[in-house]
Amino acid sequence: GLGDRLEEIFKSLKGKGRLTEDDVNQAMREVRMALLEADVNFKVVKEFVAHVKERAIGQDVLESLSPAQQVIKIVKDELTELLGGTQAKINLSPKPPTIIMLVGLQGAGKTTTAGKLAKLLSKQGRRPLLVAGDIYRPAAIKQLQVLGEQLNIPVFSLGQEDPVKIAKAAVEQANSTGRDVVIIDTAGRLHINEELMDELANIKASVKPHEILLVVDAMTGQEAVNVADTFNQKLGLDGIIMTKLDGDARGGAALSVRKVTGCPIKFAGMGEKLDALEPFHPDRMADRILGMGDVLTLIEKAQANFDAEQAAKLNRKIRQAEFNLEDFLEQMQQVKKMGPLEQVLSMIPGMNKLTKQLKDQQIDEKELAQVEAIIYSMTPWERQHPERIDGSRKKRIARGSGTRVQDVNQLLKQFEQTRKMMKQIASMTKSGRKLPKLP
Ligand code: GDP
Ligand code: MG
Repeated sequence: GLGDRLEEIFKSLKGKGRLTEDDVNQAMREVRMALLEADVNFKVVKEFVAHVKERAIGQDVLESLSPAQQVIKIVKDELTELLGGTQAKINLSPKPPTIIMLVGLQGAGKTTTAGKLAKLLSKQGRRPLLVAGDIYRPAAIKQLQVLGEQLNIPVFSLGQEDPVKIAKAAVEQANSTGRDVVIIDTAGRLHINEELMDELANIKASVKPHEILLVVDAMTGQEAVNVADTFNQKLGLDGIIMTKLDGDARGGAALSVRKVTGCPIKFAGMGEKLDALEPFHPDRMADRILGMGDVLTLIEKAQANFDAEQAAKLNRKIRQAEFNLEDFLEQMQQVKKMGPLEQVLSMIPGMNKLTKQLKDQQIDEKELAQVEAIIYSMTPWERQHPERIDGSRKKRIARGSGTRVQDVNQLLKQFEQTRKMMKQIASMTKSGRKLPKLP
């Protein structure tokens, strides 16, 4: 990652005491590369680098930080600031219903995000009403209705009626049925055009949404900037939702979009599933852009699914790199709850390569059942000393669990790999950022 490259550059600098123009220039070349690699708009990069340079040159090197760490800190602070500083929330109207309108190009993720948002809000005790405002393809209405059924949230539709009429009628319906948030899914186009903008402007004029949120696909990189700029000029956006940040997108689009429109990014779409919508954290996105991985989101995700005690235990184990078969089983069970292993791992710094290796090792139901059977057939001593399980023990364990010796061997091998990985994580988190304390 960028961190390593900067450490390299500043190796010679240790103890010099002050960041010189030369040092900073060199470092900024790396920063510039990292940002461009992350798909940040080049104009934004240029401005950003100039700004950071100005701030960094001549700064005393803090005693607690290496020069590289210090430059990274400045870069990170500035990136975080550029991304909006603190986390932005949606404005819920004190006088319900709050009207939220989702806009964006076709395929950006509007309909999916409407469902995700409805789910998130109902978890917070709200009573959303979903509104099918994309009238051009019958499949679009159906798609929203299916989501509504899955979530047990009502979907308002008038078929292929005028979208302005639909929006108005939906708000009336929300009023009369006590739904306190109206989420309007709208039509998109493959490209921006006048007709689309006029239609959206008309909906806006007739129901006066509290929040007009642009849904934009992070994978579209540079194009996202133009899209966001146009929608903002035509409609006046209240916020942005970046989708598909679970993919290969490195998050640079987030930075450019925020910088160009000045609109806060409020949520991040992290997958196709309905619970894959997260509040957008500028500081964590800054880390991701810098390629440091998103340890905090990982921990938070783990926390939401682990019970706190187990999480604290795992955290300790990761730090100490002591890890036995009982932990392994527990972890497999937890990881299954957390979602795809690769998604979880991709958030750990430096894990990209490992993630790829592990792609073929997804845990499925059946496999987990077999692992459980094998580990339950071991004595506690065996679980704590897997490396001491000899041939006759393996035979006994295989018999006890209704598996074959080669299955036991495979499990032990898999365990060994995981243990190695844990050690790697531990050494990385020791040298870089510490894993935060868990309650
Ligand atoms: P719309 O045309 O803007 O309404 O887009 P859809 O909601 O129909 O989404 C288009 C495609 O993108 C669908 O296959 C979604 O499952 C997918 N999608 C939406 N959001 C995300 C996301 O955050 N991550 C991933 N991986 N896929 C997403
Ligand atoms: Mg749609």
